[in-house]
Amino acid sequence: MNPFTVTAALRAAGAAVQATDLVLGGEVSAAFCAVRPPGHHAEYRNAMGFCFFNNVAVGVRHALDVHGLERVALIDFDVHHGNGSEDILRDDERVLMCSIYEKGLYPFPDGDDKRPGMVNVGLPSRSGSEAFREVVTQRWLPALEAFRPQLIYISAGFDAHRDDDMGNLALLESDYEWVTQQLMAVARRHCQGRVISCLEGGYVLSPLARSAGAHVKVLIGAD
Ligand SMILES: [Zn+2]
Repeated sequence: MNPFTVTAALRAAGAAVQATDLVLGGEVSAAFCAVRPPGHHAEYRNAMGFCFFNNVAVGVRHALDVHGLERVALIDFDVHHGNGSEDILRDDERVLMCSIYEKGLYPFPDGDDKRPGMVNVGLPSRSGSEAFREVVTQRWLPALEAFRPQLIYISAGFDAHRDDDMGNLALLESDYEWVTQQLMAVARRHCQGRVISCLEGGYVLSPLARSAGAHVKVLIGAD
């Protein structure tokens, strides 16, 4: 922490709220919140893992409680498990959460899905692109199709990239481009392309920039 952390954390959570207002107000169809600190480890009661407020969960609850949506999906492809998002949203039947994470890494999840609306899949170290895409195709996409989300949030952490030493799943920017394409296709089918993505992890600047760039190009339809 430093003297500016509280301001930055408030703005990060506020960005998710503003993105939600802009997207649900019809001003934009998709938004990317380029924020730090990240949020997905922050639990209901605890700050954890560089995270103070759970930015994406604040956005999800804003969409549900203020805008009155009934079904919101949260996708998390950060290499670490989004324990905070799970903690806050697991008992909320209005939310479908789909995530992947690397087993054996912080915050060391127990690996159990808490209910059918929690599709959180742990992958072994060095799983690679093919295993990641298989989880997306076999687990996430059928759950999303059945759920018919009215809005999709993404916890967009890019620390599963091969060149990021925080994790070992060895993903590439082409994987982030591909998964974003899959999610945009779901969004176009069910919710007029409405997607809000919030930056989470990603700690080596060059792969972070390349991955976020590939992700945003798809979000804005420039892929
Ligand atoms: Zn992470």
